[in-house]
Amino acid sequence: MQKHDLILIAGAGGFIGGALAQYFCDRGFTRIRAVDKKPLPQWYRRVPGVECLCLDLSDEENCRRAAQNAVEVYNLAADMGGMGFIESFRVECLRSILINTHLIEAAYRAGADRFFFSSSACAYNTELQEDPNVRALKESDAFPAMAERGYGWEKLISEMFCQEYWAERGLETSIARFHNVYGPYGTWDGGREKAPAALSRKAIEAKDSGSAEIEIWGDGAQTRSFMYIDDCTRGIDMIAHCSELIATPVNLGTSHLISINDLVGLIEEIGEITLNRKYRLDAPKGVAGRNSDNTFIKSVLDWEPDTPLKKGMEATYRWIETQYFDRKAGKPTIS
Ligand code: NAD
Repeated sequence: MQKHDLILIAGAGGFIGGALAQYFCDRGFTRIRAVDKKPLPQWYRRVPGVECLCLDLSDEENCRRAAQNAVEVYNLAADMGGMGFIESFRVECLRSILINTHLIEAAYRAGADRFFFSSSACAYNTELQEDPNVRALKESDAFPAMAERGYGWEKLISEMFCQEYWAERGLETSIARFHNVYGPYGTWDGGREKAPAALSRKAIEAKDSGSAEIEIWGDGAQTRSFMYIDDCTRGIDMIAHCSELIATPVNLGTSHLISINDLVGLIEEIGEITLNRKYRLDAPKGVAGRNSDNTFIKSVLDWEPDTPLKKGMEATYRWIETQYFDRKAGKPTIS
């Protein structure tokens, strides 16, 4: 890719899209077009020098407009959130199919060289994730399919679009299955936040109010792996520019499994607080366990996400703490 080639980032008003715009900007790319349906003041990041457009990409015409002259297209746009959101709003999640469907066609018609799709570990067969001591998921575990209702099926079908645009039309596509991404500039309040941000915010609130109490969804024994945002943007770049990975789903996540209870323990250490844990057993908690098998990505890229959880959580916690106190002081914050 040339430094002046036009890069389109869809969903750039959100967490990962915003970080990706910053990533390419930092590497000297001069023509970045960032698109999101959110009004500009609500974007998590506005990167200086980046063209920012407010467009609803579930609309075909808007996708055409966004993709005009684009050399590379990165689709990070989706209606999504943590378990509380994706278990309650399955129709909204499924409707994200419109974004990828129109955007990949628009990229193809615009003559783009490359199209990247942000898939998810939720595309994996849920029946393989019924035990907290899970076997890590390898790429072939998506089939036979029994994806997460709503959100996971949308990801699986959109992956197929990417595979067929390559097979039938020769558009170079990339598909990364993200496993829980966290970090600064991510959603931390409002109902769409994921566990690392939600638990950090609750700990900060508990410390500030003096209640020292934290609500945990489920019994806290459920396990996950968590990837820091810097690993995610680096991984997207590597996957999108690897010829061996064209139209081939690949895990992008860490293989460090941790229970929610242990994640709370880590947050207690960072926040220097001991919390009284209240378990809400009726709350959405997703599958019992999920981890990323990184054999494939390591064999192809000789790399895997490697930011230690403690280091990433420290940065995330401090950033949410600043957001929390800014909001309390009446200053603008991102969620
Ligand atoms: P996010 O919610 O912060 O960002 C998504 C952005 O897409 C939002 O700003 C939203 O306004 C925008 N969007 C939604 N519908 C749109 C539309 N019709 N037109 C234009 N923009 C639209 O989420 P994120 O965490 O940055 O996730 C980015 C991508 O990565 C998504 O595809 C998501 O499914 C995937 N993913 C994320 C995680 C994670 O842990 N964050 C895990 C797996 C997969």
